[in-house]
Amino acid sequence: MNSMWWPPLIFVTLVALVILQSWWQTRQNRRQRARVEQDYTAALLQQQREAFAQAQAQQQALFNSMIEGVLLLDAEQKVLLVNESMRRVFNLPADVSGKSVVEILRIADLLALTDRLKKEKNFSDVELQLPGDNAPCFQVTGTLVLDRDNLVQGYLLLLHDITRLKQLENVRQEFVANVSHELRTPLSLIKGFTETLLDGAKDNPEVATPFLQKIDKHADRLIFLIEDLLTISRLESGRVSLNCQELCLAEIVQRAFDDVEARAAEKTISLENKVLETIRVWADADRLHQVLFNLVENAVKYGRQNGRVTIEFKKTAQGDPEVLVADDGVGIPPDSLERIFERFYRVDRARSRDTGGTGLGLSIVKHIVQAHGGEVRVKSDLNKGSVFYFTLPKS
Ligand code: ADP
Repeated sequence: MNSMWWPPLIFVTLVALVILQSWWQTRQNRRQRARVEQDYTAALLQQQREAFAQAQAQQQALFNSMIEGVLLLDAEQKVLLVNESMRRVFNLPADVSGKSVVEILRIADLLALTDRLKKEKNFSDVELQLPGDNAPCFQVTGTLVLDRDNLVQGYLLLLHDITRLKQLENVRQEFVANVSHELRTPLSLIKGFTETLLDGAKDNPEVATPFLQKIDKHADRLIFLIEDLLTISRLESGRVSLNCQELCLAEIVQRAFDDVEARAAEKTISLENKVLETIRVWADADRLHQVLFNLVENAVKYGRQNGRVTIEFKKTAQGDPEVLVADDGVGIPPDSLERIFERFYRVDRARSRDTGGTGLGLSIVKHIVQAHGGEVRVKSDLNKGSVFYFTLPKS
């Protein structure tokens, strides 16, 4: 080859080498960039997945910690989510996701709420009472889940348990009704006797005197009732502070016996204080007297003619001081034993009223004994008699 061709040939070769090197470098760089991008995308995806799982776990934890029941359904009314509260109340199996709501909850009134959502889009505070005695009651809030085009995506129901609230409301209503009734009865009698006296009977001492005595008796009943109501209210609100000290039980028993002596004498009932003079108990003197007075008064009221009322002191198996008030009177039917400590509960309404009872005595007894940290119970045989037991704290 002619030597003059060498330089251009070398030059061309060098240029080709430089181009080849640059091409190779660019390719390498592109590959590396693609790898980095791939790694970055994979890391990003992993991060997103983890963040999503974490958000889901947080969401589930939040739903599960809610007192309200949460039920989320898709557009076909299949379960997307139920929280623990919902699962517990409706006794649902662990995994109900994807199951039809009709399949897992056969409660017509609840299912009707999803239909209602279709029409109303949302509602709040709809009451849902589950069927059955003492079954729970809920306040339900519902929302129809819509997408951007207003197409139904699902249904969200929030169930707030209001069973306890309902029970308290019933107790309150019953209490108001009872108090009104108890107040109205003596008031109507007082009004009746007063009107008869004003109509002329006042001028006839033979009629006027017994009428005035009746007015006096019913006014007393009103006073007792209001005193008992105030006591109950103070005890229930915890506003009663006990002044506990060491007391001679026999003395307090004697005070209670002295208070009912006249009534016991009318029925020739003997009152037997079997408590030894040496027995000391730890209690509030006035409150202990009130407990004993209420129990002894009942024992005389419901005791039989020529009967006996006895008070004894014992220690329970656990060593707690226990007082027993026993009578041999009418006794209490077994089905009433559970209820006699309730406010206004009476086995025989007419008999209780005739004897001046307010229906609050045993409820007061229970509250006072419990305030001392003790317990009260009763055993009774119909037509044979009753024994009331209450414990006091160890001194
Ligand atoms: P009351 O004012 O009617 O006596 P209490 O709360 O003291 O109200 O008693 C509730 C009910 O328990 C009474 O109405 C009565 O039916 C029953 N009871 C209470 N003590 C006795 C008893 N020693 N013997 C029989 N029944 C009793």
